[in-house]
Amino acid sequence: MQPLTTPTPVSVPGRPVPLSVPELGGKEWTYVKECLDTNWISSAGPFVNRFETELATRIGVGHAVATTTGTAALHLALKVAGVRADDEVLVPSLTFIATANAARYLGAWPVFLDIEPEHWQLDPVRVQQFLEGECRRKNGELRDAATGRRVSALVVVHALGHPCDMDAFRELAGKHGLALVEDAAEGLGSTYKGRSVGSLSDVACLSFNGNKIISCGGGGAVVTNDRAWAERARHLSTQAKLDPIEYIHDEVGYNYRLTNLQAAVGYAQLERLDEFVDRKRRNASEYATRLGPLPGIRTMREASGVRSNFWLYTILIDPTQGGTDRQRLHAALKQRGIETRPLWQPLHQSPAHAGARQGPISVANSVQAQGLSLPSSSNLKPEDLENVCDAIAKLTRAEKRTTKKASAHQA
Ligand SMILES: *Cc1c(COP(=O)(O)O)cnc(C)c1O
Repeated sequence: MQPLTTPTPVSVPGRPVPLSVPELGGKEWTYVKECLDTNWISSAGPFVNRFETELATRIGVGHAVATTTGTAALHLALKVAGVRADDEVLVPSLTFIATANAARYLGAWPVFLDIEPEHWQLDPVRVQQFLEGECRRKNGELRDAATGRRVSALVVVHALGHPCDMDAFRELAGKHGLALVEDAAEGLGSTYKGRSVGSLSDVACLSFNGNKIISCGGGGAVVTNDRAWAERARHLSTQAKLDPIEYIHDEVGYNYRLTNLQAAVGYAQLERLDEFVDRKRRNASEYATRLGPLPGIRTMREASGVRSNFWLYTILIDPTQGGTDRQRLHAALKQRGIETRPLWQPLHQSPAHAGARQGPISVANSVQAQGLSLPSSSNLKPEDLENVCDAIAKLTRAEKRTTKKASAHQA
């Protein structure tokens, strides 16, 4: 996934506003120059180690293993967590597809479960219903009664940066003997009861793609407190090479190691993480103040006890209340050079995962039908944010008037 480019504006009051772009005003140049000057550009080098150490410290875990992408990190995380071919892995339906694809890479099967309506995160009640209603314990293993498959992991996602209900998930995973994996690709810098996301499970993955909270261009990491799992993830990420001289490999590994050049960028970005999160939180509070009162617009809510990084600020547009809908709003904003994005197609509807097991799902469908992510860059200018809000206000009100007139006419 590349950072989305700014669309060519058609009629532009004000300058184009992209959805989310990296902010590269720190020491990126200095550190990259250091790589070039010292000839350390590839997958070994001091920045890879420095980046890993700093990531582990920031998140509050023992170990970090830097990878080429967040998807690669998820693949490794599930593998070291013990997910095997033909297992089932529980995932939320409303997430980026990589969460479910990683299970398929191992020959395992995602089971899609619904989200809750307040914060749009995986619903622990749905997880519990699946585990306790659909599964049976057999020879010490939990099995899906309908398919006979072993259920081995619960993958939770901090969707849009908002931490999900980790206490509930830890309890459920513990009770049923499942590995608990956090897909924290969107959640770096968010906290749950004062602890960083990525430190609240058995193993977590991060992404440093172009539009994530910090970026290496492309990159990811596996983070965990388990030394053996971290070592295995590192080993697998370097082709499972046992002997670097004789080229002896003890299993089928992957070429998933981050390069020193990318790590140099990531390291510079990580130095500014707090600043980025502060800026995104300020964007969020401005959006909430300005858009909250508009007819048909529902802004994001932050659960008590958590601090979200507000990675992508997202609103729901209820067409029965405000007179516009998310497709029309998306198109009208695009006309003004403002880039917005709908949420992901819920994965239980995705042709890529046709036929997958699923629980009862309704909230994911309605949130996706109404959701639109707004420009959320950490370097979003206040006047651009104002421009976005003014445009949305005009569009919801203008369209509301038209709708009213139209319905009066019909009556
Ligand atoms: C971005 C993302 C990923 C994948 O990360 P890449 O670095 O793009 O491979 C995985 N899960 C979620 C929830 C994401 O948003």
